[in-house]
Amino acid sequence: MQTLCILGATGSIGQSTLDVVHRHPAKFSVFALTAHKNIKLLVEQARLCQPRYIVVAEQTDYSLCQSLVEQHGLSCEVLAGSDALAQVAAASEVDTVMAAIVGAVGLLPTLAAVHAGKKVLLANKEALVMSGELFMQAAQASGAQILPIDSEHNAIFQCLPKDYAYGDLERSGISKILLTGSGGPFLHLPLSQLDDVTPAQACAHPNWSMGRKISVDSATMMNKGLEFIEARWLFGLASEDIQVVLHPQSIIHSMVQYCDGSVIAQLGNPDMRTPIAHALAYPERIDSGVAALDFCQLANFTFTQPESARYPNLHLAIEASKAGQSATTVLNAANEIAVAAFLNGQIGFMQIAQVNDYCLQHSPLKASDTIDAIIHLDKQSRETALAYVQRLGPSGHNKVAQHA
Ligand code: NAD
Ligand code: MG
Repeated sequence: MQTLCILGATGSIGQSTLDVVHRHPAKFSVFALTAHKNIKLLVEQARLCQPRYIVVAEQTDYSLCQSLVEQHGLSCEVLAGSDALAQVAAASEVDTVMAAIVGAVGLLPTLAAVHAGKKVLLANKEALVMSGELFMQAAQASGAQILPIDSEHNAIFQCLPKDYAYGDLERSGISKILLTGSGGPFLHLPLSQLDDVTPAQACAHPNWSMGRKISVDSATMMNKGLEFIEARWLFGLASEDIQVVLHPQSIIHSMVQYCDGSVIAQLGNPDMRTPIAHALAYPERIDSGVAALDFCQLANFTFTQPESARYPNLHLAIEASKAGQSATTVLNAANEIAVAAFLNGQIGFMQIAQVNDYCLQHSPLKASDTIDAIIHLDKQSRETALAYVQRLGPSGHNKVAQHA
């Protein structure tokens, strides 16, 4: 029996995790569930899986959550605040932590799980983008096992040899990591129309159903950029080791190319329950509820290179990755502000990359080698991005409003 803490239980990944967990009541029990605003769903989830604790991110939601728990006659204890998130993630009763909070706010609770030596199922890619070096060092020091949930990284993990030595591609005869991406909903839209796309269009991913922030990141391909950085840290790769390949059908989730000409790929329907089930049960295999692939029903597979004019964020992220951890921290923070501003109708779609570029150019990029320094840099970059969004605001807003 594995005891779980699910950070971000109410989100897309959190809900898919609970779906897999409910299929295997003899294998998993839930110690804690956490959420931000969807308190009703959180309590409903608690009714079904009877955790010891449920945690709301903000103190102001404590009373509402407590009264719903009492209404339903649940026995779980309600906690609130960021310290409580870290506390349940590091609790001695917990074996495995699903890190599925979206954005930089997931960093501290995820790191708490890493420091406590847990098996960490990592969906919260922003944590690695901000603090990859410290994160991986902490995992090594505590013995925490990091299992990737991001479908591409989970695929790469499955395609690497079992005895892969971190960062040593040559020893394993690996020549390239092929990181695949769909290209998002605007792959074929004329470039001249990209300025005018709406949040609803950007969130309508052709293959995957996801939270709003990662959906916008997929449309701009910042998501692939963040994944490029994530892959470097997870597997100890140099920038030159990774090639981004567009595969709009999202059936191949990434590949490893070997020096003898072999390419090993992981395939599956685009449903996050597959990597979640893989990581939950690793090294065993369990049913995930995902339909088997029917090769006779599949469309043709296609592969192309991403166009730089369409996806400026991908280029920014790769360059930031080469520049180092401070640049990736700045970029991640700027992007969170820019995506929120786009979703609120304050700026246009192509202005997301403009905000990110501006912040990279106007932020101090000196080495940040402690978590406090990283959090400080993240805050500074958010301020720079917010100020720049204010300056861009009216033109972006008008465009979005006209075409909403
Ligand atoms: P989501 O928006 O659906 O859910 C986010 C979760 O985080 C929710 O439970 C929410 O309550 C919680 N949260 C939000 N703000 C918070 C705060 N301030 N404090 C505490 N908790 C907070 O997002 P998602 O699509 O499930 O993505 C979660 C993470 O997984 C992201 O980092 C994303 O990049 C990554 N990921 C998602 C997918 C996917 O298919 N959805 C695939 C790969 C990676
Ligand atoms: Mg992914």
